[in-house]
Amino acid sequence: MLRQEKETKEMKTKMRRLLGLILAMLLFVVPLWGCGKEKMQGSVNSDIAQKAQTAGGLTVHYLDVGQGNAILLQSEGQTMLIDGGARKSSSFVVSYLEKQKIEKLDYVLISHFDEDHLSGAVGALHKFPVGTLITPDYEADSNIFQSYKKIAEEKGYQAVHPKQGQEFSLGSAKFRIISPVSYGHEDENQDSVGIILENGEQKFFIGGDIGLESEKEILDSGVDIQADVMLMNHHGSHVSEEFFKKVSPSYSVISCGKDNKYGHPRADTMELLKKYDVPVFRTDLQGTILMYSDGQELTFEQEPCNDYTPGDRSGAEEDEDIQEFNNSNEQECDFVLNAHTKKIHKKDCSSVEQMSEENRSYYKGDINALLDAGYSACKSCNP
Ligand SMILES: [Zn+2]
Ligand SMILES: [Zn+2]
Repeated sequence: MLRQEKETKEMKTKMRRLLGLILAMLLFVVPLWGCGKEKMQGSVNSDIAQKAQTAGGLTVHYLDVGQGNAILLQSEGQTMLIDGGARKSSSFVVSYLEKQKIEKLDYVLISHFDEDHLSGAVGALHKFPVGTLITPDYEADSNIFQSYKKIAEEKGYQAVHPKQGQEFSLGSAKFRIISPVSYGHEDENQDSVGIILENGEQKFFIGGDIGLESEKEILDSGVDIQADVMLMNHHGSHVSEEFFKKVSPSYSVISCGKDNKYGHPRADTMELLKKYDVPVFRTDLQGTILMYSDGQELTFEQEPCNDYTPGDRSGAEEDEDIQEFNNSNEQECDFVLNAHTKKIHKKDCSSVEQMSEENRSYYKGDINALLDAGYSACKSCNP
């Protein structure tokens, strides 16, 4: 081999090695960049409610409905209501929508049929014409569910029961269904319809009252749930760290009532938010939370409160509902109530044994009074 030829060959080998090294570095470094997701920075602007009609814009209102959930979305003249809060706040929700000059709702999404989500939605169905009604595919055995069925029938609405992955458009935004993955959970919260709402680069996670069971199914399905703003599941009740990390929000919102009897938000959930340094907005402390997304940047009407104090259940015994229905004892009662799940059980129902003493109330009287107050019958003992 000629010297020159040999040198060229050596050089080529060197170049190849160098290229290999650069490639290896890129392969190693790029994923590191990828996983260090940049935290989104939002700014404060006190009159974002005016922006509802702006092209490419999306306003998100987390309404202060006390213990419950209600969210109004507006984008390019289209509107959507997700849940409507409990009976107490039903008229507030309707008047709030009227104040926004809303004349029709393009979508009403009822995450599940618990009273603290459904009551106000029924109020809205009475008041506004609705384009698409979206609900989970199960029937509840409560009086408020009957009222819902009645008004939906009267108005001729056929509810859509969406499947995971299904997409709907809302002005410049769109939303994608992430749950339920399956039905038939003993706890109806797990059947909640959950969505990822997207406007340009901004994503909002809204999962109703899902808990660990449904979270696991969503994780197992492998669907993308990353979002910039996370409405904490079930009013700040339990969320698994694994699930929370998959959403990896830059901001969180908790919709719960001041001094609620459930102790929402839970201490471990607040610990998790603190651990990951996620700013928090709370309807119980700040009232209605208003956000605006132009697809690139996020604006808030007020700063996050960043109050990580958990709810307190110590006042639960004094709660009016529980007091009212805790009027008997283990031997003489007609029904055993679970103050936490708001289920009515027969005395001999197997789930009564598993119920913690602090959640139990013993009630003697008419079951309809319980149904009216938002309790529902256990499906296994059928009281
Ligand atoms: Zn709820
Ligand atoms: Zn619920």
